[in-house]
Amino acid sequence: SAEVIDGRACARRLKEQLVRDVSAARADGVGIGLATLAVGDQYSAGAYERRLRRLAAEVGVPYLHRSLPGTASEADVLAELEVLGADPSVTGILVLRPLPPGIDEARVFRAVDPLKDVESVHPENAGLLALGVPRFVPSTAASVFHLLDTWLDSVGEDRAAFYHRANIVVVGRSNNVGKPAISLGYERQATVQSVDEWADRTTGIGRHTRWADVLVVAAGKAGLIRAEHVSEGAVVIDVGINPRTGADGSVHMVGDVDFESVAPRVRAITPVPGGVGPVTDVWLLRNTVTAARLVAGARTPVEVP
Ligand code: NAD
Repeated sequence: SAEVIDGRACARRLKEQLVRDVSAARADGVGIGLATLAVGDQYSAGAYERRLRRLAAEVGVPYLHRSLPGTASEADVLAELEVLGADPSVTGILVLRPLPPGIDEARVFRAVDPLKDVESVHPENAGLLALGVPRFVPSTAASVFHLLDTWLDSVGEDRAAFYHRANIVVVGRSNNVGKPAISLGYERQATVQSVDEWADRTTGIGRHTRWADVLVVAAGKAGLIRAEHVSEGAVVIDVGINPRTGADGSVHMVGDVDFESVAPRVRAITPVPGGVGPVTDVWLLRNTVTAARLVAGARTPVEVP
C-alpha cells in the first residue's frame, strides 16, 4: 500500500524555518505584515482566513484582516486595495477567493501592488512565473512541489533524474493552482500534461491520468479520481478540499481523490486533510517574508537630515 505523505510534519519543519526567517528579517530592520481581504461571507475563505490569522500569530507576523460586505462594489474593493498598497506596515496582500459574482477578478488582481502580491495574481507576477523567473511562487503550487521534492529526498531518489523522466499530469487548470503547477513542472524539465473538465466530459479523464507518474489533482470535485484512473506506482498529490456534510450534520473535508480505492494502487499519496493544505498556509507566510525583504530593498533609502 502507498506511503502516505505527511503534510503536517512537512509544514512543521517549514514553520520552524519560517520563525527563524521572521526573526532574521526583524534583526535586519525589515518590517513584515500580512493583510487579507475578504469580500462577502464565504465558508472556505473564512476557514482559510482563520488558519492564516492563527499561523501569523504563532510565527510573529503582524496580521490585518479587512472584510467587505458581499454587497460591496468593485470600486470599493479597488479602493481597499489601494489603501493596503500604500500602507507601509503591510508587506503582503492576499485577496481571498471566491469574489462575489459581479466583481471582475482580473481587474481586482491588477489592483494588487505587484511587490506585495504574495499569491502572484497580478499579471506581472503571473507572467514572471510563466517565464520561469518567478517573483513569488503561488503557495499551493509551491507546496505541491515542495511535498514532492521532500518525498523524493526521503526515499533517496535523485530529484533531477526523477523529474526528467516523469510524466506529470495536472487535473484542473485554474490560474491560481493548476496553471502555476504546470509552470513548476516545466521548470523541473518534466513532461507535463494539463487536463480539465472538457477532457473529462468528452473522453473521461482516465485516458490521460493513467499515464501519470505524478498525478496532481486540483479540480474541486470530491472523489473525482478513483482506482481505475491511476497507474500502479504513481505518486498522487491531492489538492482538492471539498466540504462534505456527514449524517450527523457535521462538516468535514475530503479531497478530489477517493483515497480508499486509490491508495492501495499507488506508490505515495497525500491525504486530505493533512496533505497539501497545511504546507500551503506556511508557504503563504513564507512569501510574505520574501515580499517584505523585496519591498525593503526596493524602497528608496530614507533621507537623514
Ligand atoms: P477552480 O474551480 O478555480 O478550478 C478548477 C479546475 O478544475 C478548472 O480548470 C476546471 O476545468 C477543472 N475541473 C473541474 N471539474 C473537472 C473534471 N471533472 N475533470 C477535470 N478537470 C476538472 O478551483 P481551484 O481554485 O483551482 O481549486 C481546486 C481545488 O483545490 C478546490 O477543491 C480547492 O478548494 C482546492 N484548493 C486547495 C488548496 C490547498 O491548499 N490544498 C489551495 C487552493 C485550492
